Parts: sequence; C-alpha cells; structure tokens
Amino acid sequence: MSDCLFCRIVSGEVAATAVHETGRTLAFRDIGPQAPTHVLVIPREHHPDVAALSDADPGLLAEVLGAAVAVARQEGLTGGYRLLTNTGEDAGQTVHHVHVHVLGGRRLGALG
Ligand code: AMP
Ligand code: ZN
Repeated sequence: MSDCLFCRIVSGEVAATAVHETGRTLAFRDIGPQAPTHVLVIPREHHPDVAALSDADPGLLAEVLGAAVAVARQEGLTGGYRLLTNTGEDAGQTVHHVHVHVLGGRRLGALG
C-alpha cells in the first residue's frame, strides 16, 4: 500500500526512529509523544485495523501484542504502561494501518 504512511515507514521511504524489530513487526517512536514513552507497534504487513488483523491473522495479532510487551520492558516501564489501539472513527483512528500505542513513563489519566 504505497499510499499508507506506516507501509512507507516499513519500506524505509519515510524515516522513523525504530526501537524494536522482529521478522513480522516494527516498533518506532510516535512523532507526537503523549507520554515520556510513546511507541507505536505495527505488523509489517498492511491491515487497516485490529479487527481486520484479528480476522486475517490472529497469530500476527499475538506477535504485535508480544512485541508491545517487549517494548515496554525494553523502555523500563516497571511502574506500568498502557497498550491502546484506536479502531474506527469514534475512537479517532487517524492512520489506517493497525498500530498499538505503548504509553508510559508517567501516571496516565483515565480513558474516555
Ligand atoms: P491513531 O490516532 O491511533 O491513528 O494514531 C496515529 C499516531 O501516529 C498518532 O499518535 C501520530 O502522532 C502518529 N504519527 C503520525 N505520523 C507519524 C510519523 N511519521 N512517525 C511516527 N508517528 C506518526
Ligand atoms: Zn499500511
């Protein structure tokens, strides 16, 4: 998907600060961090959102979540952290390539 921003990050066409990589996943720092640690974890393959990924390849969804936990450990988030994936318009999803936000490093407020 050449018009997808995160596919372009996977291909190296758009620069990002990678912090964790596996054969099928990539994690990089969010360009507009909302917390001291704010990393996005994505599958290298294009899937529009978590529902599509869950339907197409539940094993890859598990890998993405496992990579998010690895990032949290690597970032030293011993006090806790939040994994978040916005899905659809009501949640305010802006990039339609599924991504898990890893947020931590400060006391996080309530959701909603
Ligand atoms: P969402 O609103 O859940 O779709 O999240 C999209 C996230 O992507 C936002 O937190 C943005 O700050 C982030 N973002 C947008 N463009 C880039 C980029 N080029 N590199 C890293 N993060 C980005
Ligand atoms: Zn994509």
